[in-house]
Order: sequence, then C-alpha cells, then structure tokens
Amino acid sequence: MSNHLNKESVHELKQKLRGRIIEPTDKDYDEARKVYNAMIDKKPRLIAKCVDVADVIVCVNFARENKILLAIRGGGHNAGGLGVSDDAFVIDLAAIKYTRVDPAAQTVTVGGGCTWADVDHATHAFGMAVPSGIISTTGVGGLTLGGGIGHLTRKCGLTIDNLLSADVVLANGKFVQASADENADLFWALRGGGGNFGVVTAFTFRLNKVDILYAGPMFYELSEAAEVMKWYRKFIVDAPDDLNGWFAFLTVPPGPPFPENLHLKKMSGIIWCCTKPQAEAEKMFEPIRAFKKPALDFVGPIPQPGLQGMFDPIYPPGLQWYWRADFVNELSDDAIAQHVRFAQTMPTMHSTMHLYPINGAAARVGKDETAWNYRDANWAQVMVGVDPDPAKKETISKWAKDYFDALHPFSAGGAYVNFMMDEGEDRVKATYGGNYQRLAQIKAKYDPTNLFRVNQNIKPSGTKRAA
Ligand SMILES: Cc1cc2nc3c(=O)[nH]c(=O)nc-3n(C[C@H](O)[C@H](O)[C@H](O)COP(=O)(O)OP(=O)(O)OC[C@H]3O[C@@H](n4cnc5c(N)ncnc54)[C@H](O)[C@@H]3O)c2cc1C
Repeated sequence: MSNHLNKESVHELKQKLRGRIIEPTDKDYDEARKVYNAMIDKKPRLIAKCVDVADVIVCVNFARENKILLAIRGGGHNAGGLGVSDDAFVIDLAAIKYTRVDPAAQTVTVGGGCTWADVDHATHAFGMAVPSGIISTTGVGGLTLGGGIGHLTRKCGLTIDNLLSADVVLANGKFVQASADENADLFWALRGGGGNFGVVTAFTFRLNKVDILYAGPMFYELSEAAEVMKWYRKFIVDAPDDLNGWFAFLTVPPGPPFPENLHLKKMSGIIWCCTKPQAEAEKMFEPIRAFKKPALDFVGPIPQPGLQGMFDPIYPPGLQWYWRADFVNELSDDAIAQHVRFAQTMPTMHSTMHLYPINGAAARVGKDETAWNYRDANWAQVMVGVDPDPAKKETISKWAKDYFDALHPFSAGGAYVNFMMDEGEDRVKATYGGNYQRLAQIKAKYDPTNLFRVNQNIKPSGTKRAA
C-alpha cells in the first residue's frame, strides 16, 4: 500500500467525488468489501462507490498518482474475487446502472455497473436480448470483458460477438470510446482481454430477436450418464444454431418444483435452450426425447429472463466456491469414464460440473478477430466445489482440484478466463495462445505501467516476467 496515502489526500478525494468513499472504520465496510464468493476475504484500503464517469476518472487518477493497487469491481462475481484485493483502492461500479434500448437501431447501451438481470429486464420489453451467462446476478462488466458464454452462445455467439462499442477510462485518466471504427486495437483487446485495458463505464450491444424460448433442464439418472454424454457429444456439435444445450452433473435440490423422489439425488442433466417458436421447437426435441426418456423434463416455453434467472435461487451470494476449468475439443470415452467417477463423488448439493458448447455462431468468428482465442474448442468445462459452510472449504476445493487433474490431460490447453481462479501467468498465456503477444503490445500502449493488474493479468510487452 502507498505510504503517502494520508488523511488529507483521502479527504481531498472525497471532495472530488459524487459517490462515497468507504474506509475500514466505516460501519458498512465489511458489507462493501464482500464479493459473491464467500471464500474470498479481502480487506481493501478504500472503496469508491462511483456514480458516474467523472468519479471513475478521479479515482483512476488518484490510484495512479498515489501508487495504490487498483481493483475494479463490476458485479463482484468473479471466481477468484478479482473485483477486490487486500490494501487496494476498489472502484465499485455498481451505482453506474442504467439501460437504454434503441429499438430502431436494435441496440442497448448499459452502464458499467449493470447486472445481466438489469439488461434482460430492459431488452425483454422489446422482445430482444443480448447473449450472456446463466446466472442473472452476474456483472455485465466482468462477464463481457472475459467473453461471455451462456444459453444463447450457439445462436448469437459469445457476448463479445454482440458488443458494438465501449466507453473506457484509460490508465492515464483519459476517456475514450472503442469500437470497430475508433481505437480499433483497444476494441479488439477488450473483447476477451478482461479488465486489463481500462475501466469500461458503458457497453453498447447489438440486440437479437429473442423473446419466448423453448427451454429448461432435462435430468437423467447418473447410472445413464456415460450413455447420455456419448450421445450428447455428437448431437450438440451437429445441432442447428437455434438449439443450445449445456451438460451438467448436479444434485437435485430438496424442494419444489423438483419431485420428491429426485430430491438430493446426484444426476446428469442437459439445460436446453431453443430459440425457435414452440411448434418448431417441439419437433426439434423429438429426437432428444426419443433418445431416452429423462427422469425429469422441465423443457417448455419460457420468457428469456425466466431462463436467465432460473438458477439464481440455488446460487445466492455468500456461498463458498472453488473453481477449476479447461477448454475441451473432444469428449473421449476415457474422459467420460473419469467424469462419471467424479460425478459419483460430488461432495455437496451445490457442487457441479458444466460443459458449455462454444460451437455454432461462436465458432464462426475467427480466432484473431477478437482477443478470445479458443474458437475451435467444442466446450468450456468447469468443475466447481460449492457449499454454504466455510468448514467444507477443503473438501470442495480438493474435489474440484482432483477432478480437474484427472480431466486436464484430455483438455485443449487453456481455460476460459472467467472460470479461472488465480492460476498464474503461464495459464493466462495458454488461454490467449496466439493472441497473447498482440494483447501484450496493446497493453503496453494503453496501460504501460500495468495499473490495471487485479485481473487475469496480461503484462505490457517489454516488461520482465514475474519471478
Ligand atoms: C454463479 C456464477 C455463474 C457464472 N456463469 C457464467 C456463465 O454462464 N457464463 C460466463 O461467461 N461466465 C459465467 N460466470 C463467470 C463470470 O463471467 C465471471 O465471474 C465474471 O468475472 C463476473 O463479472 P463481474 O463483473 O460480476 O465480476 P467482478 O468480480 O466485479 O470483476 C471481474 C473482473 O472483471 C473486471 N471488471 C469488471 N467490470 C469491469 C469494468 N466495467 N471495466 C473494467 N474491468 C471490469 C474486474 O476488474 C475483475 O478483474 C459465472 C460466475 C458465477 C459466480
């Protein structure tokens, strides 16, 4: 922490801001420093609740001039807790929350502190949507800058494939816009390069005509999991773009709407999302239902925000989370055998494994068109140990690590940055592959001193490798 950060400089900072500064002595400090993953317990020096772009500019300048570690917080959902850090100055964007749909242009502009629930609410009124993730309380900022995989990936591409422009406060405090026509190098880097390049205070997305979906989960007995996975691995790759389905191992929650005979049962599942109208969608589901009768079939018509918020009640903020991830090209029989082995030992009700398809529309964008490199992988795989009880921390972490170790040899190399915790520089390099050098050069141009480094960090080119 900066030694010369004294009372006077903090007082001066407070005078310049419309938003509040929260310090360790404030009553709401502990609440303000909490992030979604309760395993993260970081104690920042200051938290700035920025309310507008002017506040962000003041804070970025303050951090740079006072040489304080700077953390940027969007929705606070990051697995590794990268929205906060010990002794850091946190720019919390949550209050920069607004949405504006332009129905004629079919775009939506959203403040840097929005969650996906905010965006879905705004766009659904116009029968349109932006592809995002699967939990609506996640921040637009972190999810978008890392890529954005979810129910609509096969139809609409990654979230970044729908990003048209971004408002950015750079490390030198300057405000710029980034789009295909303006600061195109920065725009390229923002689409997958995470929070490395500046504070994004607004995002403008292209809207897709997505309104009522034919979607929901199908669960199968765990004893059938290998058979289901072997069918799924080919079916989903060959499926039309209108059909998305991510595979999961899960434990059925012990309450409604789930039937009692399934409560607390470990199962495999596919969470489907079809963008065709109901009659056509039902036809598309005929081979799925003919393949095998699921133990539970909750697939039916549902408004887009309904699907987006479906899992929110199961995963409220404040649980313990330990994440491990990889990209995967193939699901071999041997990999499937390992998957089933670890599914049988899922340690808690909330622990899970997901395989998100990134084929379809997402795969038709070139590897070098955006910073997001793994366009040719078929799945982003994530194994997460989750539980409300901090005493289970070791158990859930060990399960996720052992599971990852067993499956990593079958993987494609890197991992989706938004599914990683802190795994070090080599892993970040593996993830960006052939795009890493270009990212490092753009980082050197826009953030030469690495002010923005509480993230999956890309070092500015020309800087020495960490010891
Ligand atoms: C329960 C759960 C489900 C998830 N499901 C999905 C999913 O389906 N698909 C998917 O793609 N991801 C998913 N994720 C991962 C998610 O994308 C990441 O956790 C992401 O980092 C969250 O963004 P955030 O803004 O909430 O996070 P934060 O913790 O606030 O920030 C994460 C990182 O992004 C940076 N950042 C955030 N906002 C900005 C901004 N405006 N400007 C500059 N930098 C910024 C931060 O500095 C930090 O490095 C899920 C996460 C959770 C916890």
